[in-house]
Amino acid sequence: MTGQAQALHADALRVELDADDGVVRAIDGIELAIARGRTFALVGESGCGKSMTALALLRLLPDNGRITAGEVRLGAQDLLALPEAAMRAVRGGRIGMIFQEPATSLNPVMRVGDQVVEAIEAHTVLRGAAARAKAVEWLARVGIPEPERRIDDYPFRLSGGQKQRVMIAMTLAAEPDFLIADEPTTALDVTIQAQILELLAQLQRERRMGLLLITHDLGVVAGMADDVALMYAGQVVEAASARDFFAVPRHPYAQALLRALPGQQRRGRPLEAIAGTVPALTQAFAGCRFEPRCAAAMPHCAHQPPRLLQVAPGHEVRCLLYEAGGARPAHRAAAAAVASAVAPAPPGPAAAHADQAAPADPLRAEGAAAAALLQVQGLRVGFPIRRGLLQRTRGVFQAVDSVSFEVGRGRTLALVGESGCGKTTIGKALVQLLRGQARIEGRALLEGRDLFALQGEELLAARRDIQIIFQDPFASLNPRMRVYDLLEEGLLALAPTLDAGARRTRLERLTDQVGLRRDALERFPHEFSGGQRQRIAIARALALQPRLVICDEPTSALDVSVQAQILNLLRELQRELSLSCLFITHNIGVVEYIADEVAVMRAGRLVEQGAADQVLGSPAHDYTRTLLAAVPRLTGAAAG
Ligand code: SF4
Repeated sequence: MTGQAQALHADALRVELDADDGVVRAIDGIELAIARGRTFALVGESGCGKSMTALALLRLLPDNGRITAGEVRLGAQDLLALPEAAMRAVRGGRIGMIFQEPATSLNPVMRVGDQVVEAIEAHTVLRGAAARAKAVEWLARVGIPEPERRIDDYPFRLSGGQKQRVMIAMTLAAEPDFLIADEPTTALDVTIQAQILELLAQLQRERRMGLLLITHDLGVVAGMADDVALMYAGQVVEAASARDFFAVPRHPYAQALLRALPGQQRRGRPLEAIAGTVPALTQAFAGCRFEPRCAAAMPHCAHQPPRLLQVAPGHEVRCLLYEAGGARPAHRAAAAAVASAVAPAPPGPAAAHADQAAPADPLRAEGAAAAALLQVQGLRVGFPIRRGLLQRTRGVFQAVDSVSFEVGRGRTLALVGESGCGKTTIGKALVQLLRGQARIEGRALLEGRDLFALQGEELLAARRDIQIIFQDPFASLNPRMRVYDLLEEGLLALAPTLDAGARRTRLERLTDQVGLRRDALERFPHEFSGGQRQRIAIARALALQPRLVICDEPTSALDVSVQAQILNLLRELQRELSLSCLFITHNIGVVEYIADEVAVMRAGRLVEQGAADQVLGSPAHDYTRTLLAAVPRLTGAAAG
């Protein structure tokens, strides 16, 4: 078949990496075929082998890695047999690649336009002024504002998101037949993400480009992919058309991942997190690799490795439930029930979802009438713009302008908007991180005390009452301190009257509350996974028994299964401790799941706020509508 003949194939591919603790079998016999004009999505948690697959296809494995078996073919061409010089021409030529980290891919001492022009001249017939005009066109297509001017900027003048877009422009400008994109839009705002994804889809239509899309965002997959392969522990465990994968996910891991996603239809109920973590790939597996985490595991799963079997036309699954004699009828029924439970909810008014959602959540049942814990009134935050040798102040950048909102007792207000809109600045201003750096006007009343006017003892008390949890738990935890010392630090500074015994008792109770073992207190941050580190950060924030917690994108660096654990934990703690929460995020699924009220920010101002059901279900402002429309959704697959 012509499509297959032109496809990018991996056959029985195996990759090994040397590590301190042995040989990591990162990819263990995968088969893929990405046809021209189609999007093939590779999904799964971090550590499952998705990115390593991309690197292997391009022969870009790290120095400690090697392909030990299998083939990679581009049409009839054996890519593993090509000399490196020929392979270099394939990379960036017939096969383009976009990786998540743009900083390492752009040359810092070369203007961005020259880098795009270089790609155009290397791979198309355009030269000189024509190539430059084309570069401007590409920069515009990827959403760089004022491309005629920005084309002469050096990379350091661009934001992270803009660098990512320049890199995408450079890659697409070479007009590749295939594109391997590893989390291409993860660092971008949702409206820019929508623009880039639309551009990729358009190029596919126009040029029949084949796309291998690696992402953890199942909403993006649902909206973009024709075919899906789910990886677990170095193997493909389910492969199907996107439509079948989302309509009837068969593998227990696929079902669990989809159930772990937050969203409106799951409000008021705990998310179903997947226990445990992806296993180390240094071990030899006797049975199913997912067995320790599988809710449907049977006794023989631990010692019988499942094969990848076709269970329906074009739908393959690696699970003993589907092997002859492997599944008892009850298991099949359970699998079918789970499949229907995770099928996307039909589109409809938000209020309808909320009504179905649920048995009562006591916090939500209290209603919006609860008295405000925090009242922010006319908040303005301005940063001085300094220029010249003497760094004289030349003006003020108004990051937050006339913002007013309230957070009720025991309630969650989600502050949403794109990066740079001022949401994080509000969080930092409230926890007093901007004192001395920014001009802050307006009032923030915490139970009647104006946070910005407090001094001395009163300020100390207010600092205890508001704590913040950041996105990157690793960056916010000092790597040289034991967890006990990290948690105790705040207590020593802000609750100096507690004696050592009382401090230890409080910290031990906290580790229980956030679901860590007590011996975690004696260990260092690097010994924990991302999700565990975020639990430590949450424990540190709660050590001072705050009234209000500001969560600044606390789950955006985490896999969906870990995100589910953290969101469940935050909900439980909120219920137990009657905490109020200001939740800063760009993830609308998380907002739908967790927020009582929503405030939408754009360019430093609030454009809309109100009850979550109302703002998300019947947005009044154009910008809110644009933001919501740009969110990739699973319903897209079902509808499509
Ligand atoms: Fe679960 Fe057994 Fe299937 Fe593995 S083989 S996914 S343990 S049911």
